[in-house]
Amino acid sequence: MSQHQTFKEQVVVTAQRLTEKGYLMATGGNLSVRIVGQAAFAITPSNFDYRKMQPDDVCVLAFDLNVLEGRLKPSVESSLHAGIYRARPDVNAVVHTHQVYASALALINAPIPALFDEQVRFLGRAVEIIPYAPSGTGFLKNAIVKHIKNHHNAYILQNHGVLCFGHDVERAAHNVEILEKCALAYLLALCTERTVSKIPLPVREIAFAKLRKDQKKAERGEISTSGE
Ligand SMILES: [Zn+2]
Repeated sequence: MSQHQTFKEQVVVTAQRLTEKGYLMATGGNLSVRIVGQAAFAITPSNFDYRKMQPDDVCVLAFDLNVLEGRLKPSVESSLHAGIYRARPDVNAVVHTHQVYASALALINAPIPALFDEQVRFLGRAVEIIPYAPSGTGFLKNAIVKHIKNHHNAYILQNHGVLCFGHDVERAAHNVEILEKCALAYLLALCTERTVSKIPLPVREIAFAKLRKDQKKAERGEISTSGE
């Protein structure tokens, strides 16, 4: 059995859970988990049905994109995932989806301000829009790596989809769900054309400080990931 089996299983289980819930569709999006203690990650293969995926279908890549394990072609966004792990030592899992409500905000260039305590506690001060760049290119990777240094755990990609991070894969998947709930509530609120209220600034800062505390713990390896 592969030494990376646990990580590959996490990728499959989470990808299938997110597919069942409708966040991942057909072969769209991708998902990866950092191999803790190594400069490597396990990632979904390119253009492969999540419902049929088995742990052996998952690719294990070094940060320089050398294939360590796997017989299928890795996701076309592998270089982006490697860039995120390098830039954000607190992030141990990355999920990219084309989920519908958050993607709608990506079309009208509407970042989500601090609307709910839970949103800021887990996603960051706001869900910002990262300007458009074509999928699978260095332009997209560079735009994202530059942007994520503000320590948020969710971003909307203009005319594309979303990115969610977590200190483990379950947290990253929960963040996908929180983001979609916030996106839907925000879209509905915007439709009323009335003023959308935000949480008070001091509350926002307290919630964000809690997230930062968790991230610093994860950087020091003090929050155990489910792969250990
Ligand atoms: Zn995509």
